[in-house]
Parts: sequence; structure tokens; C-alpha cells
Amino acid sequence: MNETVPQVRGIPVPSRVAMKIPMARPLIDEETRQAVLEVLESGRLAQGPRVLEFEERFAEWNEVPFAIAVSSGTAALLLALMALGVGPGDEVITTPLTFAATANVVLFVGARPVFADIDPMTLNLDPEAVERRITARTRAILLVHLYGNPCEMEAFQELAERYGLALIEDAAHAPGALYQGKPVGSFGIGCFSFYATKNITTGEGGMITTGDPRLARRLRMLRDHGQSAKYVHEILGLNFRMTELQAAIGIGQLIHIDSWNARRRALAAIYDARLRGVDKLAITPRSTPVYHLYTIRVPAGLRDMLRQRLEEAGIETGVHYPIPLYRQPLYQRLGYNDSLPVAERATQEVLSLPIHPALREEEILYVIETVNTLMDELTGG
Ligand SMILES: *Cc1c(COP(=O)(O)O)cnc(C)c1O
Repeated sequence: MNETVPQVRGIPVPSRVAMKIPMARPLIDEETRQAVLEVLESGRLAQGPRVLEFEERFAEWNEVPFAIAVSSGTAALLLALMALGVGPGDEVITTPLTFAATANVVLFVGARPVFADIDPMTLNLDPEAVERRITARTRAILLVHLYGNPCEMEAFQELAERYGLALIEDAAHAPGALYQGKPVGSFGIGCFSFYATKNITTGEGGMITTGDPRLARRLRMLRDHGQSAKYVHEILGLNFRMTELQAAIGIGQLIHIDSWNARRRALAAIYDARLRGVDKLAITPRSTPVYHLYTIRVPAGLRDMLRQRLEEAGIETGVHYPIPLYRQPLYQRLGYNDSLPVAERATQEVLSLPIHPALREEEILYVIETVNTLMDELTGG
């Protein structure tokens, strides 16, 4: 055991603070462990009654008629496009400030992702920028509720109706987030991820939500080799099924999600009140965010220095995301030459601090104290 009292630039580290404060930490309760063991003992491991139960519970919780469980958030997005019949010749408008999966699925079905700039206050897609990129080939708007903050759904629903476009919500960051009291993923086709670091997890996994029974039926076939009945292959699908083990974990996670999200909001309020010298993002009016990430903006040039110093202080941070998607090698090779100013600037400035329901009060206070002290130092204040 190392008995030295850790010091970070004169800030004593509280004794109960773990030497490493991670960005995320999955929580699995005893009932869930038992449920997983029961699946193992049941002999039925592949998609079965627990997947169905998880879907039913998720649909009820998210206030949607149908929920279809799949193997990942990426699969959810891909199947949403496939179910809509989006393909070659079609365009899908999306944000450049997201994980690559959001736009890559569009390429994968042979369509073209078209990037629109984002709102400087929330960093979510800007409805006016989206409207400017609509053409005769546009089929869908693929929104991302970035960091768990809902997009301006009223504006996007209006756009979708006016131009006859499908609305796909990448809600990977936002399960439980509300816009005007209504859960995200219940406005358009909702795509959720249960990757290990997300607000709820099944290790890997995803969910698609919809109010359209025909689309729901198509999605169920697409995830299971296009089968309408055993060995009847109606359409071209693949295997995107969730396992019973994942569903057992998901059911156990769903019990806690509302209280975990409330805890994330309480932690975000502490950051909001106490962080100094950094810019905070705006929350969309009339919405309830779920803070998958707590992301600040630090003047370009200082961000990476601050990040390095926080790392040395045992505080893990993230950059979501460091490169606008159109600048990724894949997109450069495809001839993309966008330069969207708000997104460009955001990629230089964003920094995500640890936030998760297991983060303790003394840990968040240590993070805040360290950020404040380092920012004073870095800006000579
Ligand atoms: C995690 C994530 C995805 C992909 O989900 P997976 O389950 O990892 O496939 C898609 N979009 C965003 C914004 C994400 O954060």
C-alpha cells in the first residue's frame, strides 16, 4: 500500500476519493446477477421470453407502442434505415458532432449522410441549418440528443411534416430524457444503445422504438434474417438479435433508470453551481436532460492541457467528439469537404467530466476543485 497522502497542486485528495475517478461505471445489482444465473441455468440463451419482457417493459416506460430489442445501438440505427427503405440515391441529414455510428449506418445502406451545423448553445443539430440542406433526395433527418439533452423536437417535427421526411432519433445518450414532458424516442423512430458506458447497459445491446405497427413488424423480421415465421424468409435481413442474458441485465437496469437519471441531474446541478472559468452548455427549453455526459467548453488551446493535468490528478475525461465526422479519413476519401464553423469550434473546446450515478459527492467536489484550480492557473487568474 502506498501510504503517502496524495496532493494535487496543493489540493489534498479526500481520503475516500478513489485514486482514479472514471467517466462511467456500470451498476449491476444482486437481483440482476441472480437473473443472469437463472438464464444460464434455464438452458435458453438466445432471444426468448426475457427479450420479449424487456421489450414490453421498455415500450411502456418510454411511452411507445412498440420496442424491438437488437444487438447494439448501431444495429438499431441501421435497421431503422433499412425498415424505412433508405438506400442508394437517398440523403439523410445528420450532425457531424456525434459518434461515427450515426452517419456510418447511412453509408452502409448506400445512402449519403449530409451534415448540417449545430446550435452554438446546446451543440444539438440546428433546425435552420438542417432545413437549408434539404433537397429532393432527402429521406430522413437523423437527430442525436447529444449528451442526453433533447433536440428541439417541435421544430424538427414541423420540418419532417412539411417536407415529408422520416425522423430518426439517435437516443444513445438520452434514455429517459423528456422534451415537453414526452420521452425522446417517442417522436420519431427511437434508437437506443445499451453499450457498457451508456445510462443503462446490457454490455452491448440496443432498442428501437416506434408507434407504427407495420414498421415494428418489419424491424422484427430484419433483425432475424427476414423471417416472418421459422424458415420463411420474407425479406433480406441478418442476425441482430439480443440474447436472454442481455435482456435479463436490461430488465434489471430499467428498474433503476429513473433514479439513476435523477442522480445524474443532481450531480450536473453541482457542476453547474460550482465550476468556474469554463463555459457550460445550454439545456433545450422545456426539456429534462439525462446527462449521459457532463460536457463543458474550454477555450481552444487550453482544453488538451487541462485534460492532461486532470489525467495526472486521477480524473478521467473524454472529448465527445474530437473530429467533425466529415473530416474523418473515411469521409475525406468519399470527397466530403464541409467546414461547419460551430461544429469545428466545438470539437476544439468540448471536454466531458466524470458523471455517473455511482460518483460520490466528495469525488465530484474534488473534480470541481481541481478544474477550478487548474483553470485559474492555466488562464493566469
Ligand atoms: C454509443 C452510440 C452509438 C452506438 O451504439 P452501440 O451500442 O455502441 O453500437 C450511436 N450513437 C451514439 C451517439 C452513441 O453514443
